[in-house]
Amino acid sequence: MGFLLIEGRKFLLFGVANRKSVAFHIAQVLKEEGAELIFSVFGEEQKRTIEKFFPDSAAYICDVSKESEIEKTASEIAQKHGKVYGILHSIAFANYSEGVKPFHETVKSDFLQAMDISCFSFISIAKYFKSVMENDGALLTISISSTKMAAENYGYMAPIKAALDSSVCFLAKSLSADTKIRVNAVGASLLKTSSSAGIPGYIEPYLFAEKLTLRKEALKTEEVANAAAFLLSPRASGITAQTIVVDAGMSTNFFDRAVVSAALKFQQPGK
Ligand code: NAD
Repeated sequence: MGFLLIEGRKFLLFGVANRKSVAFHIAQVLKEEGAELIFSVFGEEQKRTIEKFFPDSAAYICDVSKESEIEKTASEIAQKHGKVYGILHSIAFANYSEGVKPFHETVKSDFLQAMDISCFSFISIAKYFKSVMENDGALLTISISSTKMAAENYGYMAPIKAALDSSVCFLAKSLSADTKIRVNAVGASLLKTSSSAGIPGYIEPYLFAEKLTLRKEALKTEEVANAAAFLLSPRASGITAQTIVVDAGMSTNFFDRAVVSAALKFQQPGK
């Protein structure tokens, strides 16, 4: 048995779209540690990804914007697999089709749709899967490293992630009434995945974030996955109701000397 003590335990993973997905990397770590994996994916294309890369695992299609599909998936999984130890929610959606607007011009329907898919679905999964989880299991979602850094190109997603972080605490409390299920989030900084590629003008902030890490090396998706696998494992038994930040130190480094000097040079050409 490896350090994480998850050999033979069942995990249900929401959010694999392709090989770059955060959930894909988490699945790889859990598999390496001997866990049994079950997937819930958005559609047929994502299901084919699972069939290709995780041929031993079952994959269920579930659009989490439809509560009835979450309920149906929960009962199907309960019937076919029994209880699972851990559930990963690695899902987000934002409609940037009109580009990013100034925050106060956020389109209400876009905001509510993003809130539904990226935040409420986590609450809904907790509701319908509570009885499908082992009593001392773990629920995990993927948040962002800071919800107060008002990055213009991220638009309204940061307030939605703030609601997700808060939901982590409320779920941990409400589930504790009659279970020992732990609920946590990994707060990841900027990564290279297909979701982030869809954020308008993402590449410059991504490269800037790399300069702000203490090690001057971008955060890797597998580093987020390692933290996630730990939080999903019994080794994290003392951790609940937390967002654990994984950002290679970026959030401590606003006044990095090289970055400050580059910014001042940029503002005062020739000086
Ligand atoms: P991704 O596109 O690979 O994953 C997003 C997943 O959400 C996809 O699998 C997609 O199919 C799923 N999804 C969207 N709408 C859905 C719906 N209605 N029903 C079911 N599934 C749906 O991108 P990712 O970067 O792996 O994102 C995973 C999580 O990581 C997200 O919560 C994201 O906000 C978070 N995150 C990403 C970064 C980054 O830089 N990429 C940084 C911090 C946090």
